Amino acid sequence: MTGKQKLLIIIGIVALICWTIFWRYDYIKDPATKKGGDLYKTVVQRGYIIVGVKTDTKPFGFIDESGKNAGFDVDIAHYIAKEILHDPEKVKFVAVKDTDRFVLLNNCKVDMVIATMTITPKRQIFADFSNAYYITGQSLLVNNGSKIRSLGDLSNKNVGVIYGSTAEDTIKFLLPTAHVLGYRSYEDAYKALKNGTVLGITSDDAILRVYSLKDSSVKLLPKHYSRDSYGIAFRRGGESDYLLDVVNNVISDMDNRGVFIQLRHKWDLDS
Ligand code: GLU
Repeated sequence: MTGKQKLLIIIGIVALICWTIFWRYDYIKDPATKKGGDLYKTVVQRGYIIVGVKTDTKPFGFIDESGKNAGFDVDIAHYIAKEILHDPEKVKFVAVKDTDRFVLLNNCKVDMVIATMTITPKRQIFADFSNAYYITGQSLLVNNGSKIRSLGDLSNKNVGVIYGSTAEDTIKFLLPTAHVLGYRSYEDAYKALKNGTVLGITSDDAILRVYSLKDSSVKLLPKHYSRDSYGIAFRRGGESDYLLDVVNNVISDMDNRGVFIQLRHKWDLDS
């Protein structure tokens, strides 16, 4: 064996040792985040669930005045923790954006994502979804007095979407002539509407409605351009199967006990 070959073997062994130590450290640091195995058991052993939620999307996931995660999706996470771990507070929240929901899930940074996530056939390739827990549809928010009355009026005009949302795909499909401008957050898109950069924002009715309720200078057009069923996303590959079954049971219990009706009322989602 030449000296060069010996050196390569030594480098290989050192790299293997480093990788093993790093992997173990990552696992010990946050034992939630391990691929393979049974995620339900991991969650029970760990003693809390790690859930990806929105922090800028009222009334589903946002940060309240006291700095805590709050909203419809956040309440669902607390309910799941109560059912699985007998304590609604046994949840660690991780902030997600529309663009990184799958990245954080598939990089094992979260156990599940409860983040206004529409179940679509394309997304079902990358994640497993729970049964639907909320139904909405894509609509259009415009300034009051605007000449825009429907999506069709936005041909060759600027319209705002949130990067990575289903609305981004839908408008590009329904109206390829629209100039679609992507924003990282609803606040940024809303500012663009107010300062005239875009003539409308298109997204889920349930999310945009908050803006029309708090600001009488904007209005939500009544037409829906899609049917969006929100589901909880899990990593594919078998590890989440049992946890997903458990969560589906929790969702049916919540439905049967009228909890979703209470939550819709609490978060003003029925008006
Ligand atoms: N429901 C849409 C989606 O999953 C929009 C969600 C959002 O922007 O918060 O892409």
